[in-house]
Amino acid sequence: MESTSTGDRPVVLYLTNGSELMRVGGNALRTAAVDEALHRCAITTTHRVRCVDEEDCAHAAPAEPAAAAGIGQDAAFHNAYCSVAGQRVREVAERVRPDIVVATGLEMWRYLHVAKETTGAAAVLDLVNADSQLAGEIWSVLRSRPDAETFGLDDGVALRRVEAAALSFVDHLWTCTRLDAAALSALHDFPIDNVTVVPNAVTSPAARPQHSGVEQIVYLGRFGWFPNYLAAEFLIDELAPMLARSATPLPIVLAGFGPPASLLRRRLPAAVRLLADPVTIDHLWPDSLLAVPLTLGGGSRLKILEAFAAGCPVVSTAKGIEGIDAEDGVHYLRAETAAEMTDAVSRVTADHTLRENLTKAGFDLLNDAYTPQRLIPLVAGSLRRFTAVRR
Ligand SMILES: [Zn+2]
Repeated sequence: MESTSTGDRPVVLYLTNGSELMRVGGNALRTAAVDEALHRCAITTTHRVRCVDEEDCAHAAPAEPAAAAGIGQDAAFHNAYCSVAGQRVREVAERVRPDIVVATGLEMWRYLHVAKETTGAAAVLDLVNADSQLAGEIWSVLRSRPDAETFGLDDGVALRRVEAAALSFVDHLWTCTRLDAAALSALHDFPIDNVTVVPNAVTSPAARPQHSGVEQIVYLGRFGWFPNYLAAEFLIDELAPMLARSATPLPIVLAGFGPPASLLRRRLPAAVRLLADPVTIDHLWPDSLLAVPLTLGGGSRLKILEAFAAGCPVVSTAKGIEGIDAEDGVHYLRAETAAEMTDAVSRVTADHTLRENLTKAGFDLLNDAYTPQRLIPLVAGSLRRFTAVRR
């Protein structure tokens, strides 16, 4: 299934965030999918960028080019840079001599810059979100909450400067959705022709897993991320009590990494269970329904693709499924309020045929558009722009 012959294959250096903190969750799944696609259409070397002492990195970071772009310490995560890890990127780049360097995650931008500067390769930045716009949207909701500082977020202004600095030198951008592509292009006057939508993807089993019914509602997410925290609050405070009074009083499982102390301390309703830092989520899919009550954008939506792969029915807000070409009533049931969600849960639980139709359509959609296999032509086409000039 290779889409290009060996002779046409560009040499690619793929930089990923090698931090232990990034080994799980949405970014890890995206990185795995992009990595697989790159290996299928290019001679790819994957390098995990990581400080040898990441718990306490004290390796001096050079001021440029961040300082020149007016970026201070206020954007620490997305501007993070370890000079030892940077030197390693330089060495790997000199050895690989890539035609193209690809990096996933805005926080990788300074290492991408190093690799481009070292080799003169074309730089492709693969962004997981339109980060600065998303930060602004989240902050507008978060700012008035007494616990706002728990989440380590701000208005996104510093982040926007980081984004601008990154987009000033990259040759091409990948985004997960058309919405992100349009937002980033407009925010930074970045040519839309130089943006390729490379959707999120998950590996599909050969056949759709079969389940006998719906025994529980699940929600997955990093709970330190405010949109997920807000979703957890909704499930605990609004959906759980309404569901308890309904014809389908199902238990709710909140599974995810890094729940803040405020969530760990909460007295949960009897029907709600918090599964903190699960080693695996595989056992959660059978006989479950995925509820996605997200009201704030971003997040990876990978949880929905994972549900499609697992044959698990999905009930979601429009925001929760944004960016996936799914249709209400065909691939999932849309619900915006606790009452609508209770109703949708009851319908899916009671109606075997509906459940069968939704999960089959979801599984087919996944296989049509959102597996690493489906990314190969998109990635190959995007890389070809640079190799065509060279040859
Ligand atoms: Zn370091």
